[in-house]
Amino acid sequence: MSTATYEDTLAGTLPLLRERIADAARAAGRDASGVRLVAVTKGHPVEALRAALGAGLRDLGENRVEELEPKVEALGRDGVTWHMVGHLQSRKAGRAMAAADLIHSVDSGRLAERLSRLAADGGGVDVLVQVNTSAEESKSGIEGDAAVEEVHRISELPGLRVRGLMTMAPFVDDERVLTDAFAGLRRLHERLREVAPEVGPELSMGMSNDLEVAIREGSTMVRIGTALFGERVR
Ligand SMILES: *Cc1c(COP(=O)(O)O)cnc(C)c1O
Repeated sequence: MSTATYEDTLAGTLPLLRERIADAARAAGRDASGVRLVAVTKGHPVEALRAALGAGLRDLGENRVEELEPKVEALGRDGVTWHMVGHLQSRKAGRAMAAADLIHSVDSGRLAERLSRLAADGGGVDVLVQVNTSAEESKSGIEGDAAVEEVHRISELPGLRVRGLMTMAPFVDDERVLTDAFAGLRRLHERLREVAPEVGPELSMGMSNDLEVAIREGSTMVRIGTALFGERVR
């Protein structure tokens, strides 16, 4: 770690990031206020999250339940929306539900059913269904021709409020590959909403390296780690 504080880091990175988001929105003829910035803080200590809140960020994301829980514990829920963005094992579904306000990574029918059972008697749970739009084996998510039917089925499970969809593009610079992944999610979302109007409008797509393409293709939430906090410590 350098000696720069997370406040210093964010003072440099956040204005640039906001500019990238604004430029991308403008180029797409969209309003930048339609793109929510989720600060992904995995691998960074609680000081990074405090600095993010101090800089006016309100949406914080983690990719592991084990890391989400102590951070929620340390910072509380007031004025923060907590996002669980990483792959979630079914047996940790209850813990994720308790800690997060929105789970982006419902990537299988099995996990959806598990969350549904846990949430049906309580207040319900807000989720996004993760779709694998690139057919990369290393990526999780609902995939293939049956994706519309499967997400439709998930959206009708009791206790689940499906706010929209999420995807991760392959980690490449090739704009065509990125466009295929993000436009694929947008088209699937459009087809889905024709048969399942209860599915919400959110499209969680775009990370530090590909947010411009994601915003052009309709992203409503970008999940940003590196471009805000620098390379992860681990
Ligand atoms: C780490 C992570 C991000 C942020 O990635 P960066 O490239 O650091 O911006 C976004 N989404 C998920 C699911 C992640 O695990």
